[in-house]
Amino acid sequence: MYPRLYVHKDRTYNNAKAVVSLCAEQGIDVTGVVKGCSGNIAASKAVLKAGVKQVGSSRMSQIEAIKKEIPDAKTLMLRIPMISEIEKLVTFCDYSLQSEYEIIELVEHECHNQGKTHDVILMMDLGDLREGYMNEEEIISVAAKVENDMKYVKLAGIGTNVGCYGSVKATPDNLGKLVAIAYKIEALIGRKLDIVSGGATSSLPLVVGGEMPKGINHLRIGEGLLTCREVSEFYHSPVVGQTTDAFILEAEIVEIKTKPTYPIGELAYDAFGNKPSFEDRGIKKRMLLAVGRQDFGQHEKLVSLDETIEIIGSSSDHLIVEVSEQSKSYKLGDTISFEIMYPAMLYLTESPDVFKVVV
Ligand SMILES: *Cc1c(COP(=O)(O)O)cnc(C)c1O
Repeated sequence: MYPRLYVHKDRTYNNAKAVVSLCAEQGIDVTGVVKGCSGNIAASKAVLKAGVKQVGSSRMSQIEAIKKEIPDAKTLMLRIPMISEIEKLVTFCDYSLQSEYEIIELVEHECHNQGKTHDVILMMDLGDLREGYMNEEEIISVAAKVENDMKYVKLAGIGTNVGCYGSVKATPDNLGKLVAIAYKIEALIGRKLDIVSGGATSSLPLVVGGEMPKGINHLRIGEGLLTCREVSEFYHSPVVGQTTDAFILEAEIVEIKTKPTYPIGELAYDAFGNKPSFEDRGIKKRMLLAVGRQDFGQHEKLVSLDETIEIIGSSSDHLIVEVSEQSKSYKLGDTISFEIMYPAMLYLTESPDVFKVVV
């Protein structure tokens, strides 16, 4: 049955192991973030085996499923929790990122009800302008209140996020500010913080380049241990030992024909309301594959393993590829395989029409 998405557990393990080992050399622990593959259980097990300290997701349903399948796994909720999900937060998550004292108080209350403890990481906004306290005094005073006034909620540490909304780059300068705040909190509460979390995959280039400020001892890595393209392609500093083929899409050919490259008729809008442009390159041989944007998002996020084939377009349910003189002769029912980038993984792992095959 097609389309299929292969989840290679050994490749995922190797990719995660490469990051975990590199970070360990610099005293940095890793949360393996699995929201990008919709919390796939096989992938979660592979990253845990590679030595990540927690598995993280932004979606409660994924964390709930992981906790039920892998009860020993420590789980981290990445999105600031909704008040309406606090009961599940306390039941299924060991750690959470927090930026509102009102919510932390409700977590304390729920922990009391369930007779459990819960670890929080307070988020500082260093300029990327998504979650976190903007004000240094405020995060320090909230940290002291959690430390001194709460019985069930434990202050695990502080963290930050860059390179998400505001596309701000992780630098020794901005992450150094996080370390400075951590030192102030430690002086105030009279103990060391367990976690000073310096961001996501976008912070990895500092580790690769040996520029991570001392004092950052934790990162939350998703893309950089699943699809593994960002660090080498955007920042040109690959993590040695990683491959980009842990997740492979395989789709079936349903039509093979020679067609013009320029549409015939008066041009208006495509299926998504866009006005595309076309170049007339004469008549070409092309194939139609039974997988579409509803499954993978944008075809620009797919990379054909057969390099003689070019992806030229897609609609909700179809992918159109062009075959060249060098291509082998495909027939109907044959399949084509693709490496996928992070956004395509996000959609493909969610699509009920894509068969997930763990290999
Ligand atoms: C998604 C997420 C991450 C991981 O992001 P990657 O870029 O995939 O490494 C880390 N922290 C938070 C808060 C997130 O939401």
